[in-house]
Amino acid sequence: MRESQERESIDVDAWCRTYPCLREIMQYQEVIWFNQRQEKSSVVLEKMVLKRSDIVDATARLTRFAPCIAEFFPETLESGGIIESPLRPIPAMQKELEKHSCAFGGRLYLKCDNLLPVSGSIKARGGIYEVLKVAEKVALDAGFIAVTDDYSLLATEEARKIFEKFSLAVGSTGNLGLSIGLMGARFGFRVTVHMAATARTWKKKLLRSHGVNVVEYDGDYSDAVTKGRALAANDSTCHFVDDENSRDLFLGYSVAAQRLADQLEEQNIMVDSEHPLFVYLPCGVGGAPGGICFGLKHIFGDNVHCFFAEPTHAPSVLLGLLTGFNEKVSVHDFGLDGVTEADGLAVSRPSGLVGRTVGPLVDGVLTVDDNRLFSMLAMLSDRELIRMEPSALAGLAGISMLCSSRSWLEKNGLTDTMNAATHIAWGTGGSMVPDDEMESFYQKGASLL
Ligand SMILES: *Cc1c(COP(=O)(O)O)cnc(C)c1O
Repeated sequence: MRESQERESIDVDAWCRTYPCLREIMQYQEVIWFNQRQEKSSVVLEKMVLKRSDIVDATARLTRFAPCIAEFFPETLESGGIIESPLRPIPAMQKELEKHSCAFGGRLYLKCDNLLPVSGSIKARGGIYEVLKVAEKVALDAGFIAVTDDYSLLATEEARKIFEKFSLAVGSTGNLGLSIGLMGARFGFRVTVHMAATARTWKKKLLRSHGVNVVEYDGDYSDAVTKGRALAANDSTCHFVDDENSRDLFLGYSVAAQRLADQLEEQNIMVDSEHPLFVYLPCGVGGAPGGICFGLKHIFGDNVHCFFAEPTHAPSVLLGLLTGFNEKVSVHDFGLDGVTEADGLAVSRPSGLVGRTVGPLVDGVLTVDDNRLFSMLAMLSDRELIRMEPSALAGLAGISMLCSSRSWLEKNGLTDTMNAATHIAWGTGGSMVPDDEMESFYQKGASLL
């Protein structure tokens, strides 16, 4: 805080002297940065505006909506309208990664959000939650439902007539737009998705086929957000889903933590001071990894270690946290181009909300070269028969980087616990990527192995 008041302007040279790893970051090198501003999680959580009760409230809302989701999306019938993904061990991938670095002990799991129903990415958590929150408010304000009602009422034609009077807008690199668009359109909301012209063609096509209005911009993702936000501000019947500032997105993601804790328990995986949990989360603006980190720290305290993973070309959250300037810095201020094939992570400016809330909670941030994302994509496909989009592989790079960070492990008293550790790479998307596109990702990765 003090620091950002004292230093009014962006002074890259001064920062380079203070933070030596900044030079490596500016040369697009892979780094693992450990958070010097991290504090004891109980102290941080105590002071936060968002509380555990907010997560409980979000969880309850998702439960109220379950009958409605089951109605809209038959693929969720089996889980009773709850949108969740499996947690699975990936021992063959672990072996392969160890072959290329060193044995890291403990066990490696994949949280398969690439398989989340409805929109096939982690955005099915935050994005859909925010749409539900809006739908509930509209329906309650109209006197159409009470919170004690069966929410499958909201999947009816009469409900649709109410929702049609309202609209949703979002600026998105793709997956958030897909989630808001597919869910919003189901209710009957008029939905506009503001996208960079460089976003994947299939995503634009899919959205348009559901009646979503897709507006394209020449600039990058942050420009699309800014323009979309300005347009929506003049329309009182329009709700803008603000990826850079939304509490609802953040809380929607945070619900994943308790769901994961339940899965760990079902699989008899222990988490305590002798059995630390390491979670590696691909990071764009920071909302998804931030919300999940917030939720996990509430449950596991300092026994969970959360690492965010970003592309070397777009380390926006890393730069925001390292300098303490959060959304006041963009990767362009450091001469970085922000260009990456990991389109879910191609973000030049981080979320200020996330930097300020989870800044003191996150253990560190690491960066990954695009080529490594592709080679791991092919490796995961070969070893585990799982195919994910490039962004979703970022977390997997973290395990070997962390395990070779001897001094940090030593300093945190973790060295002796590593054989009993659980590592979870969060797989954030991919099941909706068309086969031909996925095949070309795979071929690119295989040629790099
Ligand atoms: C959006 C996204 C992320 C990261 O989420 P943020 O909230 O932007 O940090 C990670 N992976 C994929 C595939 C995504 O679409």
